[in-house]
Amino acid sequence: MTHSNPTRVSAELFDGQSLLAQPVCLELDGEAARVVGAEAPAAFALSSLRVSPRVFNAQRFVALPNGWELVCAEQPALARLPQASSSEGPVAWLEQRISVAVFAVLATIAGVVAFYFVGLPRLADAVATRIPPERERTFGEGTLRTFDTNLTRPTSLDTETLRQVRAGFDDIRKQLTPASSARLEVRDSPGIGPNAFALPGGVIIITDQLILTCSVDESIAILAHELGHVRYRHALRHLIQESGVAALGTLVGADASSASLSASMLPIVIAQAQYSQGFEAEADAAGFAMLRRAGWSPALFASCLGKIAARGKLGDPGIASYASSHPPEADRIARAEAAARGFVPSRPPKRPADRVEAEPENASAPVPTTDHE
Ligand SMILES: [Zn+2]
Repeated sequence: MTHSNPTRVSAELFDGQSLLAQPVCLELDGEAARVVGAEAPAAFALSSLRVSPRVFNAQRFVALPNGWELVCAEQPALARLPQASSSEGPVAWLEQRISVAVFAVLATIAGVVAFYFVGLPRLADAVATRIPPERERTFGEGTLRTFDTNLTRPTSLDTETLRQVRAGFDDIRKQLTPASSARLEVRDSPGIGPNAFALPGGVIIITDQLILTCSVDESIAILAHELGHVRYRHALRHLIQESGVAALGTLVGADASSASLSASMLPIVIAQAQYSQGFEAEADAAGFAMLRRAGWSPALFASCLGKIAARGKLGDPGIASYASSHPPEADRIARAEAAARGFVPSRPPKRPADRVEAEPENASAPVPTTDHE
């Protein structure tokens, strides 16, 4: 087979013996390839050569079967050589198109965002179901201790107010099915301000400041909302989402000492937690349902949010008011009012006249408390 016009490619030859490159010419002629200009001319079957992938206009490397290597500039003739990588065509095509690169970046960002908002919550939920309640409770107790070390002190409310808050809390707690072991802790915290949180494992903290800003009855409506968070293990699911891998390691694999170690950061995380709209709506709905079943009006929730919002607008100090961690959007207040429409409450109980009747029932409440009253 003869071709009158062999294609010539100028190249530098590295023969594996000398460090110096020899200028040569690679002639491509039909199915044959010849290296011309080397000390010893050499001929090979074209199919026995391998050319490196094309990367923009970088130099190409041609491997010869006798161990020689040619280095040459990128040029169309090299397309005739067998490619070292079968994906060279598409890869080179992609690399040369900036729009493809931009699209790839955008697709990656979209993927990360989708994972954050969809994948991560689902992953966190899957992980949460695998965390034993006992471990979640230990985690929550460690968090409570850290609150008490850094941010909160024993409640300074009077005994009667505390009794009323506890009685109302128990009213609502009994509505949870299965019966919840959720526990109420009342704390004084000028730093945190009017607020309430559900910790992992079912401990609920409410501050004196919230009870004083709203009424006792309105505080119970807030506690119903927090019990909604407990019902769906929102605190745990939120923390898993926020801290991701670190929390997984602590909760699933590590021992109790490292659990309490990482718990030291949790009060701030929990105090400033901004739950997703979905979590808040879920806790609101559960809270309203429990309030109604227990005979309390969801309107109490609306009026409490209104008072906290009004106080927040006055620039009340506090690292995180209930209003900032629970945005008092008008539609939440509207939903609470809608849930209360047409409802005839049987609570709150008459006070303090019924105190004598209510006392024995509440005194034997099965839930242990550790409040410093
Ligand atoms: Zn909430």
